[in-house]
Amino acid sequence: MKGLAEALQTRRQAGLYRSRRVVSTAQQPELVVDGKRVTAFCSNDYLGLANHPDVIAALQRAAADYGVGSGAAHLITGHTDAHHRLEEALAEYTGRPRALLFSTGYMANMGVISALMKQGDRLFEDRLNHASLVDAGQLSRARMLRYQHADPESLGIQLARSGEGQALIATDGVFSMDGDLAPLPALVELARTHQAWLMVDDAHGLGVLGAEGGGVLSHFGLDGDEVPILMGTLGKGFGTYGAFVAGSEELIETLIQHARSYIYTTAPPAALAEATLVSLRLARQETWRRERLQSLIARFRQSAVQLGLPLMDSMTPIQLILAGSSRQALAWSLQLEKQGLLVSAIRPPTVAEGSARLRITFSAKHTDRQLDRLLDALATLSQVAV
Ligand SMILES: *Cc1c(COP(=O)(O)O)cnc(C)c1O
Repeated sequence: MKGLAEALQTRRQAGLYRSRRVVSTAQQPELVVDGKRVTAFCSNDYLGLANHPDVIAALQRAAADYGVGSGAAHLITGHTDAHHRLEEALAEYTGRPRALLFSTGYMANMGVISALMKQGDRLFEDRLNHASLVDAGQLSRARMLRYQHADPESLGIQLARSGEGQALIATDGVFSMDGDLAPLPALVELARTHQAWLMVDDAHGLGVLGAEGGGVLSHFGLDGDEVPILMGTLGKGFGTYGAFVAGSEELIETLIQHARSYIYTTAPPAALAEATLVSLRLARQETWRRERLQSLIARFRQSAVQLGLPLMDSMTPIQLILAGSSRQALAWSLQLEKQGLLVSAIRPPTVAEGSARLRITFSAKHTDRQLDRLLDALATLSQVAV
């Protein structure tokens, strides 16, 4: 097709080309990738539940009962008692009256924002929000305003100056490419002052932060009155697949009526819901998984600082080493890969120009030895120049 080859070549030359690796093992720190054994530090399976025997067994049992395909959308015949029980468990877990399952987090964000925002409304988003929130804003009929990252002052000015129309503030709870937290107590105050709705996408906080893994809201001690819209994903900390929105009766009923990415799509498999019920219980009860993560993070940060690495500020399992140029980030990532360590290089447009970085993520299943190997390899990197 005319023009595509040149565009791809330009991208390659800029060090921005993306390509896939083929994995032939289950999700765990030791993977076989493109036929080679590597230790991965780039999965979002923070609690190490993606490959848990009890979760696998639940999926298998439920597939025997419900089959694989759900056959239809939730509003036709796709909504089983397994989905329903999972929604009830998620509502209870998040301390809200209701929860609604979506097939993916991307679709949940699309669904919420398009269902709640109409023409003339105002949508306020953090500059570093996840692409799915940004795309949702672009597709909605609302006017989207982006405020400076984690900066309530910048948001306050925009709220005051942007006129009338229902306001919705939408933010990541934990920023996926920076690992830092949204300043939620200040956002709650602003939402109150300006009568705005507040939505938190806690894809990376749920299961990981707070008591029982209640996420960023539990970390800050915020409830459903303060943050009326909570979106969570199931494919990260909970180790399965899918997403949900939790909130009031009216919020969930509104989404069932109007969220197009909920209505016009096949329900996820019932067996997946059964598997998630098990992983949710494990995530909640097995506190050692969160403690293990915290000890890996503490040891990593302490050693990285000693090595003089350009470490970014983060208390979460998402840890960043700033490279600057895309080429530097890519060179570092390739150097690590030669030593059998898989760490992603995050480049524009995922992050701002000039702020390419290595993104290291930890799982409760990483061993001390694996962390030592990473630190040893990072020590040799700091001397590489591009
Ligand atoms: C991963 C992610 C999503 C998308 O969730 P999926 O279930 O993978 O589609 C949405 N928001 C944030 C902040 C994420 O990190």
